[in-house]
Amino acid sequence: MYKFGQEELEAIGRVLESGWLFRYGGEGKTLRQVEQFEQRWAERMQVPYAVAVTSGTAALICALVGLGIGPGDEVIIPGYTFIATAAAVIEVRAVPVIAEIDATLTLDVEDVRRKITPHTRAIIPVHMAGIPCNLDPILQLAREHNLYVIEDACQAIGGSYRGRPLGSLGDAGAYSLNYYKIIGVGEGGVAVTHDRTVFDRMRMHHDCGVSFWGDNQDTQIPFIPGVNYRMNEVLGAFALVQLGRLDSFLNGMRPIKKRVYQAITGALSPAPQNDADGDCGTTLHIQFDDAETAARFEAALQERDVDAGRPINTGRHVYANWEFVLNRANVSPKWDVWSPPHYTGKATYSKDMCPNTLDILSRTVAIPTDPFWTDEQVSDLIARLLDAAESL
Ligand SMILES: *Cc1c(COP(=O)(O)O)cnc(C)c1O
Repeated sequence: MYKFGQEELEAIGRVLESGWLFRYGGEGKTLRQVEQFEQRWAERMQVPYAVAVTSGTAALICALVGLGIGPGDEVIIPGYTFIATAAAVIEVRAVPVIAEIDATLTLDVEDVRRKITPHTRAIIPVHMAGIPCNLDPILQLAREHNLYVIEDACQAIGGSYRGRPLGSLGDAGAYSLNYYKIIGVGEGGVAVTHDRTVFDRMRMHHDCGVSFWGDNQDTQIPFIPGVNYRMNEVLGAFALVQLGRLDSFLNGMRPIKKRVYQAITGALSPAPQNDADGDCGTTLHIQFDDAETAARFEAALQERDVDAGRPINTGRHVYANWEFVLNRANVSPKWDVWSPPHYTGKATYSKDMCPNTLDILSRTVAIPTDPFWTDEQVSDLIARLLDAAESL
């Protein structure tokens, strides 16, 4: 999140004054902030259905449960994403299958094709660092093999692909509202879908199966078990104000990324993009032929007070650091995700299983943008980038 202030304070204050903090019930008192937030989110993301939840991880779990994915199923995810994507798959007792990324830092469609097995049920393309994935071929591949697509748009709220909002193109989408995302409320998330049955299953799963909203019985499908991922009214009010700020953040960052890329091309190589207009603009990525040169450029930028880093060093965002996946760890022996009777596939893991991913992440330098930079600050950044390039 890039900003919060008086508007959030006032919105939260109104909820506290109402005296009703629970998302359901409260007739005559409730301000129905969570419900309004869901409606506004659905409109912004051009989907009929949205469920507000307590995290992006919860949103992914609701999407997986919504689509009926569970024990024995394989779900293909990229080797570059926050570990939460893998954790959500394991939480529904499915098996994460790790695929390569390409130079765009998002899922490599050809590697996904190679990793499809008779057990595969879904693909989770992750729009990392605000970058739209190569969705058309992914959706096409999914259609050919009868697979679901769940977009992990946790880091790409408001981004688009060929003009359509990220999260709205697949069978379900997940967003995070944690402190580090484009907009946020500290911790929170949203799951979306076009399908009424998937929506009902998501709502049931996020609300202990049936407990509160189910009193209205406004569903045609039988209840399924669930847990509690309900968002509260305080966060609903906070989230409504943040959603109102989203486009101003994107309108600040997108031109910055375009301007910098244009100015440095020739001297440096920006990462290729699947949809430059739909990119959220949160992060600049510059690529080199080898990791050693990238490391020298990173150091040269740091010497020039530019906040630069390499994705390879982002800890749990790189599959080689996902210990509990690599070790096929289980919560208890009878809760084994990777063994018969449920799982009869052959998914295996090793630190070097996706060499292209490790190579690309090592020879990429990432620089975060800020929607509030002035034109002068952007000019200054460009000058430092070119100066650091010159010094190599
Ligand atoms: C942050 C993030 C998540 C998880 O979101 P939380 O709100 O922290 O649970 C999942 N996937 C990606 C790509 C993320 O960046």
